[in-house]
Amino acid sequence: MSIDERYTLDSLREMVRTASVNPTLAEGGMGELAMAEWLAAACERLGFVVEVQDAAPGRPNVIARHSGTGGGHSLLLTGHTDTVGTLDMTIDPFGAEISEGRLYGRGSQDMKGGLAAILGAARALVERPHAGDLILAFVVDEEYASIGASALVERVRADAAILTEPTDERLCIAHKGFAWLSLRTEGRAAHGSLYNTGIDAIAHMGRLVAFIERLERDIFPRQVHPLLGRTSVHASAISGGLGLSTYPDACTLQVEHRLLPDDSPDALLALWQAEIDRHHAADPAFEASVALDLTRPGYGIAPDAPIVETLGGAIRSMTGAAPEFWGMPAWLDSAIIGRAGTPTAIYGPRGAGMHGAEEYVEVESVIRCARVIAAAAAGWLA
Ligand SMILES: [Zn+2]
Repeated sequence: MSIDERYTLDSLREMVRTASVNPTLAEGGMGELAMAEWLAAACERLGFVVEVQDAAPGRPNVIARHSGTGGGHSLLLTGHTDTVGTLDMTIDPFGAEISEGRLYGRGSQDMKGGLAAILGAARALVERPHAGDLILAFVVDEEYASIGASALVERVRADAAILTEPTDERLCIAHKGFAWLSLRTEGRAAHGSLYNTGIDAIAHMGRLVAFIERLERDIFPRQVHPLLGRTSVHASAISGGLGLSTYPDACTLQVEHRLLPDDSPDALLALWQAEIDRHHAADPAFEASVALDLTRPGYGIAPDAPIVETLGGAIRSMTGAAPEFWGMPAWLDSAIIGRAGTPTAIYGPRGAGMHGAEEYVEVESVIRCARVIAAAAAGWLA
């Protein structure tokens, strides 16, 4: 099966030129609407039946279906249409200039290169009969709250999915999640001279800050994931205090945990609560609480899961090299799609500078990914 390289590259350029900065994340972000309109038209031209699903007003997912002849497995090829902002960029964010085999622009690596690989593969796949249904889904808002993927899984379930986030052509089978927690210590406000009345909430928070270092040093290093390293925690923000001559009545600390695929936020809460209880038992004046503000679980798929083996076989046959298994440190929509019942493998092109000043994707890598994805999909859909 051959890939139309011209079509794949032209699609990539047009998508990078179509700004789609996440409007919640970046002030002045124009959103994904223009990208969605472009993608809907592109999929219709390829012969897909296109459905537009509003994840929020003006923020549509594009879902495109190409029915199989029946009896095969269905496959979802998916990625996000939004990008982060452009304020810090030192190149034209929407120029799509090509230099030395690299195409530059905001979203070129993350992840319009991956979307172009999907379109290049889809163009090859629709030209021949396939038994299973081929579904393409282009979703909004991955860079902020993933309202796109959350809406998608209400509508689409497939036997497997390939998410084409940029993996430098490695086969990603795990990624981390995160949890944001708030800790609060209660003190008692009093004149700075009244040591027998005032309770210093900030000093009490110090005991919990010390726990962060104990977790990092003694507890979290005990459990290491082969691809993702270990779970981690850091302090993100702290506030408290009423003035120089006053005992602080309260102190709040926000912490971020980065989670392995099997880590549960409930277990983290229990860990913090046990620490709070320990301090309270030793010192009844110590009052504190912990709350979970937001969590996104990690995700993992077995290296011998059928879609992983199919994709690995396609990598081997199209590139001549064995697949390199990899774990992504960042969070991805595969946690939503995979945990909703569609086993998801992650594989996309090589590039650099995502979220940074100079972002690019390697053109040849996008073409290679299109080839691998087309081969994997052809085998899967049969
Ligand atoms: Zn991304």
